[in-house]
Amino acid sequence: MRQLTCVGPNAVEWREIPEPRLEGDDQALVRPLAVARCEIDPVLTSGLFPVDEPFALGHEAVAEVVSLGDSVRGLQVGQRVVVAFQLSCGRCHTCSVGHSGNCQEFPVLSDYGMRPLSGVEYGGMLSDLVRVPHAEAMLQPVPDDLDTVSLASVSDNVLDGYRTVAPHLATHPGADVLFVCHGTPSLTLYGVQAAKAFGAGKVDVASDRADVLALAEKLGARPIETDFGRRQGRYPIVVDCGLRVEGLHYALGSTEAEGICQSVSFFPLPETPIPLGKLYTLGIKFFIGRAHAVSLLPEVMAHIASGALRPGDVTTRTVTWEDAPQAFLEETIKLVVRRD
Ligand SMILES: [Zn+2]
Ligand SMILES: [Zn+2]
Repeated sequence: MRQLTCVGPNAVEWREIPEPRLEGDDQALVRPLAVARCEIDPVLTSGLFPVDEPFALGHEAVAEVVSLGDSVRGLQVGQRVVVAFQLSCGRCHTCSVGHSGNCQEFPVLSDYGMRPLSGVEYGGMLSDLVRVPHAEAMLQPVPDDLDTVSLASVSDNVLDGYRTVAPHLATHPGADVLFVCHGTPSLTLYGVQAAKAFGAGKVDVASDRADVLALAEKLGARPIETDFGRRQGRYPIVVDCGLRVEGLHYALGSTEAEGICQSVSFFPLPETPIPLGKLYTLGIKFFIGRAHAVSLLPEVMAHIASGALRPGDVTTRTVTWEDAPQAFLEETIKLVVRRD
């Protein structure tokens, strides 16, 4: 079967690889139908984390169930499902308390399409077949009336954007929210949608990218153009989204006393400076950590089914399966690849 494969820095191509098979009663094989490019994918294809061998790409997908192990209940062959990007059992202690991203059964960072980070090849979603080790936990059925392409990013960036604000707005209803976008545009905009849907007061987006600010405004946020130098106000909830240290510092500097700064940024260096003294003095609560896909999928899918979240509105480019290798390396806010 074909698999979209990163074969070197900024070099992506289709490769033939053996088909995966069911290896246990609780597993599934799925055929991806629509795959979104995650914010981490350009970092992986850039070669920032060098690897000795080519690796599979793609981890945000809606797929069709092709076969199921004998013990799987509640799923049917032919059904559309969102596939959790993190491998999780759904049953261990960390999974059962909602922290499925650190499932005890798998090594840390066990995700599809991320061998440069985890060191383990689990396959990628831009493939004809993917093995899912714990089908009941990792596959979330898609309601019949929802469109496949618009849900491609739900398994990661959409739920990640949702959890940047939903828990904080639950404890601080009506609070104003500032998103600081310095590198992960779709994640920021999914967060904006969640902030608007779950009772934020004012929703502002600070960025140096004109396309992000324009789409943010379309989604109902106030755009603020910035080079991440001088802050333009302080907010009770600030979301730090990106890859740059100056963006993180702008976010922390824009958080009001006793406020919340939630970071979903990715900082690859072993150490990143943060002004702890300022956080201490002002009582700023700083949250950082990965999302938990298996734990969050049912709740996020319910919000999409109710119409509260509309992830399709963030998609800026859709291409066919054949065009994936080239499109995967071209800049756009949110790319979705759909099977013909
Ligand atoms: Zn991702
Ligand atoms: Zn687990």
